[in-house]
Amino acid sequence: MYHDLPRTARFWSFLLAVDQDLAGETRKKACPCGGRLHSANYLRKPRGTPVQLPAQECLRFSFCCDRDGCRKRVTPPSVRFLGRKVYLGAIVILISAMRQGPSPRRVRELSTRFGADESTITRWQTFWREHFPQTPFWKVARAGFITLGEIVCLPYSLVDIFVRRHPPCEGWTRLLRFLSPITVPGGLQIKVSP
Ligand SMILES: [Zn+2]
Repeated sequence: MYHDLPRTARFWSFLLAVDQDLAGETRKKACPCGGRLHSANYLRKPRGTPVQLPAQECLRFSFCCDRDGCRKRVTPPSVRFLGRKVYLGAIVILISAMRQGPSPRRVRELSTRFGADESTITRWQTFWREHFPQTPFWKVARAGFITLGEIVCLPYSLVDIFVRRHPPCEGWTRLLRFLSPITVPGGLQIKVSP
């Protein structure tokens, strides 16, 4: 059903556009000290993308306050990068979900395709099974699901709910947007209603 990500470059460019919007909103808010935010992006080298991404599409948008004595870094939410993980968020979610689905795919197949080894995948699964459900984000967000019986295991159930109900590009975008509040530093501790 969702055993794949949209493979087109257009999908990834679209996610980039969403990230640009999210960055624009963050920049407008300025620094809590009142200082202006200047671009201070990180160049990331995400692994496992279905298409070759040009370098400018691999930037993790970030800002730095321009006031002396503050210089605080402010990083907006992202639909592409999940925290500090090297893989794109969509890949982390997809691989973890595939391991939990009705017919879990073998690790070797996943490793070959995305270049993620077993210990990496195990770490992701620990994140979804043990850390994510305990986060303030999830404790608030889960109330938004009509029947919690739908949430059998994470992140499989989220992929199932979001991607099953929409065309693949739209479903993935909605899911990544839903999870975007947790992608900022400290984001797992933030209580946000979806
Ligand atoms: Zn500041």
